Amino acid sequence: MIVSTGTASGKSLAYLTPAVASCLDGGTVLYLTPTKALAADQLRGLRELHLTQVRAATYDGDTPFEERTWIRRHANYVLTNPDMLHRSILPRHASWMSFFRRLRMVVVDECHGYRGVFGSHVAQILRRLRRVCVRYGSTPTFLLASATASEPGAFAMRLTGLEMDEVTVDASPKGSTTIALWEPPLTELRGEGGAPVRRTATAEAADLLADLVLADVRTLAFVRSRRGAETVALTARAKLADVAFSMPYTGTPLPATHRPEAAKPTTTSPPQATHWSSDMALNNAIDNDPNNRPDHAPVNGPHHGSSHSPSEGPSSSPAIGSAEGTADRPAQGPAQGPADGPADGSADGSAKGLADGRRGSAPTGAPESDPAHIPSRNAPDNPLSWALPDISDLSNLPDKIAAYRAGYLAEDRRVLEKALRDGTIMGLATTNALELGVDVSGLDAVLIAGWPGTRASLWQQAGRAGRDGQDALAVLIARDDPLDTYLVHHPQALFGQPVEAIVLDPDNPYVLGPHLCAAAAEIPLTEADLPIFGPTTTDVLDDLVNQGMLRARPTGWFWTRRERPTDLADIRGGGGSLIHVVESTTGRLLGSVDEPSAHTTVHTGAVYIHQGETFLVEALDLDADVALVTAANPDYSTFARDITDISILSTQRSHPLGQGTLHFGEVEVTRQVVSYLKRRFQSGEMLGDEPLDLPPRTLRTRAVWWTLPASAVTPLAEAGIDLGGAAHAAEHASIGLLPLFATCDRWDIGGVSTELHADTGLLTVFVYDGHEGGAGFAERGYARANDWLTATREAITSCECDRGCPSCIQSPKCGNGNEPLDKRGAVRLLNTLLTTA
Ligand SMILES: [Zn+2]
Ligand SMILES: [Zn+2]
Repeated sequence: MIVSTGTASGKSLAYLTPAVASCLDGGTVLYLTPTKALAADQLRGLRELHLTQVRAATYDGDTPFEERTWIRRHANYVLTNPDMLHRSILPRHASWMSFFRRLRMVVVDECHGYRGVFGSHVAQILRRLRRVCVRYGSTPTFLLASATASEPGAFAMRLTGLEMDEVTVDASPKGSTTIALWEPPLTELRGEGGAPVRRTATAEAADLLADLVLADVRTLAFVRSRRGAETVALTARAKLADVAFSMPYTGTPLPATHRPEAAKPTTTSPPQATHWSSDMALNNAIDNDPNNRPDHAPVNGPHHGSSHSPSEGPSSSPAIGSAEGTADRPAQGPAQGPADGPADGSADGSAKGLADGRRGSAPTGAPESDPAHIPSRNAPDNPLSWALPDISDLSNLPDKIAAYRAGYLAEDRRVLEKALRDGTIMGLATTNALELGVDVSGLDAVLIAGWPGTRASLWQQAGRAGRDGQDALAVLIARDDPLDTYLVHHPQALFGQPVEAIVLDPDNPYVLGPHLCAAAAEIPLTEADLPIFGPTTTDVLDDLVNQGMLRARPTGWFWTRRERPTDLADIRGGGGSLIHVVESTTGRLLGSVDEPSAHTTVHTGAVYIHQGETFLVEALDLDADVALVTAANPDYSTFARDITDISILSTQRSHPLGQGTLHFGEVEVTRQVVSYLKRRFQSGEMLGDEPLDLPPRTLRTRAVWWTLPASAVTPLAEAGIDLGGAAHAAEHASIGLLPLFATCDRWDIGGVSTELHADTGLLTVFVYDGHEGGAGFAERGYARANDWLTATREAITSCECDRGCPSCIQSPKCGNGNEPLDKRGAVRLLNTLLTTA
């Protein structure tokens, strides 16, 4: 059974009740969650029931050895994670015999996180679990809890391999939530190729957070990276300190934070430098943090620096500057009208008031002294009303905002929860670590800085707002990115749409192989086991035997090697070996990066950021799997450039698409990082291109690609369109939009475009899964090609830039320096694919 409903709809009770009943009845329960923190919260909840018959315990990497034996023998409610199940519990199933014999129920909580390659691994771990249960004669019920998802029953069946019933009706009481879609303004800064640059989502989030806290609105801001969250909190606190400093208590209403700043004449000239640096800190935090991945995947696990960074280049994106947009915000063009404020018709008066209030000196804003734009305290039952805070003690104002990150101890989190509940803290900036595990009720507003990746995550995060069934506000702040831009211009893509299906591909041979080895080591595999592992099992087993990984004997397949087979599967990583990042002066291990991303993130000379500290890579030694770094404070960032080749191994499916053809199949991608650029932070000035000597890497994966015949493209070339630039631009934008259809993020996929590809002899654009063997994303693109490419065209045409910018056709990870790109040409190419003329 899968229960797939919204935040705070009572999912926990739905599994807790039968699970506890199973324990009272002499059975055992296995509870799986993606994170330790959530397991710890669940344990606390269970203990608060004070049922002596329920002997609950968490079993994870932190569990002391002396407790482990007790847990294996006596606990009847074990809370753990897929990693522990994979590495410890299943391989040592014999020592869990009495637990498995009585196993009645397996709870898979927050299972919407099991998507892509990670989800595919978890699917195979659950199949191994089912096989071990059979060994001990138990047939547990699988109860899955998920955020709202499309076709949850089908997803749950892919995840567990079992027929599933689904519960999707949410009858819990809720107020209404006003959703605002917020597009930051363009600044006067210029990025790559002279493209205009928008103010960052984090800078906007900090402003909004300060404004809402001043308005006595309890607000949570979701920011993608931890550094980003900390920077948002710091910036908002600084703004409140400014207010406290400049506004001694006079009994007059407090203005929004930008006003005292704007009122200071100095803000526009010398202190601009200060603004620069604070904004650069923001950019830096966001764009150069290798951990800056959308966190909608399960977080808090061993989160490697990055997944495969597909061929569209380095994982770190160009540090494009962004101006402080308050006092010196440029006059805004027409596009700043409707799009920048809340989406049409979706905002109520008070949210509009906020939006207007923030315009500051912008043309649509109110004059500073216009009292009409500061609504008076009214309707105390409406948390969104522009209520005046108690400003009798302004000196404490900045302390009303804090940052929260994963890894806090349970006690710290309790303190924070309490502070939020009693109003000591009014504003909290966090990564979506909070999405998993901390109980925050009593919020009035949620700010979401950057598209969280899926509608499901958006609704889950927005669902945090609304205390006691009251109305609430949620603001999605767009980042400078094609998908975010598309969404704030196309609210119909968000509202009235079903949430996404969760995509995974357990049949990926690169995922299945290691788990078959692990399963054979647990209990030798027999013919009878094969259906459990899916239709590709026989082929993969043959391969494993040929490679000498497994031995085929008349009685089945055996693991006879000495190493641990579970080491073959890196369930959260991109696969391959890990490069350790070590500080050369102290020998301190800072972290690890998977080998494919090491080429782009820790190559010799790279600027590497770890938990907010900056390092320079002295040397990358691939033989020793080590990158030696030293602390440094360079005023530039680095960007790896690469050369990518793609060849088609097999075409599995094809069909006509407009005047062209769409294909899906297996490809081999060869990528070589050949140099890196150094670019100064503030100006974006190029400081040089340094050559690198790194070996090429190959990736066998799956791709979707489209081709256009000469008859379709020749007229375009004659009309003066740069076909290479057009294909490249279409490729970038389509990579940006695929996450809308395939529950991945743009770092999970890569692309190659060419005017004439050797294997097709035609203009060809490829988009491939950035994971060995594929992850199901390209396949999804093939299935939804028409919608996907239509949205891609829309994203390009709706961007108001002239020749292309990061919001439409520029890619933050382009290996080619975003050259050449032809914005109008891309639209023309997509037209030929979307019309049959
Ligand atoms: Zn643009
Ligand atoms: Zn590119």
